[in-house]
Amino acid sequence: MAMQIPFDNSYARLPDGFFSRLAPTPVRHPKLIAWNAALGDDLGITAGDHAELASVFAGNTLPVGAEPLAQLYAGHQFGNFNPQLGDGRALLLGEVVGHDGKRRDIQLKGSGRTPFSRMGDGRAWLGPVLREYVLSEAMHAMGVPTTRALAAVRTGEDVLREGPLPGAVLTRVASSHIRVGTFQVFAARNDMQALRQLYDYTVDRHYPHATDPGGLLQAVIDRQAALVAQWMSLGFIHGVMNTDNCTLSGETIDYGPCAFMDDYDPDTVFSSIDRFGRYGYAAQADIIVWNMAQLATALVPLMPDPDAAVKRFTEQVHGMADTIRAEWTARFAAKIGIADPRDGDAQLVAELLTLMHTDHADFTNTFRALPTPEARDQFADRDAFDAWAAKWKARIENQPDPEGLMRRTNPAIVPRNHRVEQMIEAAVGGDDAPFHRLLEACTNPFTDQPENDDLRRPPLPSERVQQTFCG
Ligand code: AMP
Ligand code: MG
Ligand code: MG
Repeated sequence: MAMQIPFDNSYARLPDGFFSRLAPTPVRHPKLIAWNAALGDDLGITAGDHAELASVFAGNTLPVGAEPLAQLYAGHQFGNFNPQLGDGRALLLGEVVGHDGKRRDIQLKGSGRTPFSRMGDGRAWLGPVLREYVLSEAMHAMGVPTTRALAAVRTGEDVLREGPLPGAVLTRVASSHIRVGTFQVFAARNDMQALRQLYDYTVDRHYPHATDPGGLLQAVIDRQAALVAQWMSLGFIHGVMNTDNCTLSGETIDYGPCAFMDDYDPDTVFSSIDRFGRYGYAAQADIIVWNMAQLATALVPLMPDPDAAVKRFTEQVHGMADTIRAEWTARFAAKIGIADPRDGDAQLVAELLTLMHTDHADFTNTFRALPTPEARDQFADRDAFDAWAAKWKARIENQPDPEGLMRRTNPAIVPRNHRVEQMIEAAVGGDDAPFHRLLEACTNPFTDQPENDDLRRPPLPSERVQQTFCG
């Protein structure tokens, strides 16, 4: 049976100024690397054979009903406003409404140049495509709101980075690709009509209960606060929290230089372009507030009384820090087995984190080991840990099922940086087995997997990845 995607496009109905319509640029030899059959089923896609999947998700064959377009947006990149970005190497093929009733975008990434490509080649190389595939699916498996990976295809063409590297296309699925930067582009242009249309569209698609722009702002603030707290609870560092990489839906988007931390250090930064640590691990809780201030600024013109709106929105943005703290406390309390956090629990968590920091304890493995005797092996100063553990055990004594809670919140396996790099290196050499193995392991994160003990091991000094790149 030929492949069918039940498109039901809405963004393409918005005015022409929202995007640029164009077809993907065909590639020489599309070859399927991965197809997410479970996600495809959820979306109601009737999959064809490998050759057809490869052709469609490389952009060589346009599926019936697709209306490809590159979306316009702006954004603050490392704090500097860029009035025009847009999809420089991505194309929205269209939307589908899944079996769950939810509307989702299907987008090709790496599908060729667009009017927004600037100096870029419109392409992606294999490394970032496989990195995003594994990391986004791992995040989804851990219950984090995120874009998903539907397919990855080799193009059979090289792209030029430091040297020639194999090209690939990722198919990304998202609740939408509306970014803070999408609001910013129209606000900066003073295009009130477009700003109003985008607002209506966003409310309709994501927040039907929002009654005015302040309501939309609050809803996004709440989702982003929860999201960043959840990232931090998993040791995840996004790496490039520019406002164009910050969604209105509250999903994680743009897996460029992101990474999971190995040993706990709140100042950890991996991204090669993040020279001042703007988007480091702990900084994420501050930067998301800054990003929401940019969204607030873009929404002000929609309000009848701008002065009153500034006052109200400022209060909302300032209130975000408390929301993040509450979300953070709930997430980290759960990680130590506390279902109903109360005063003092944030302090208990902070004390553990301080010990972990001092002793370079592995973030993922320490939390996973907490209910076991091996936990103390993570610490150089075992007496200090024992003293903390005594307090902690007293606290969780009357919790309903601390061990179960910990096993549901502390993953056994995350895609560690060095394993991601090793998997990419193998794939560049033509061996996709490590990619498939890592993907499989990381999409069952809360299951103990003795056969994958090597994937749980922190990097040896020689394996340690110091920097990650955008690709
Ligand atoms: P990012 O840092 O991935 O969020 O990208 C920032 C902007 O640069 C977006 O508008 C991208 O579409 C664009 N971009 C990134 N890489 C490329 C590329 N290879 N070719 C064209 N545009 C790109
Ligand atoms: Mg981006
Ligand atoms: Mg990127």
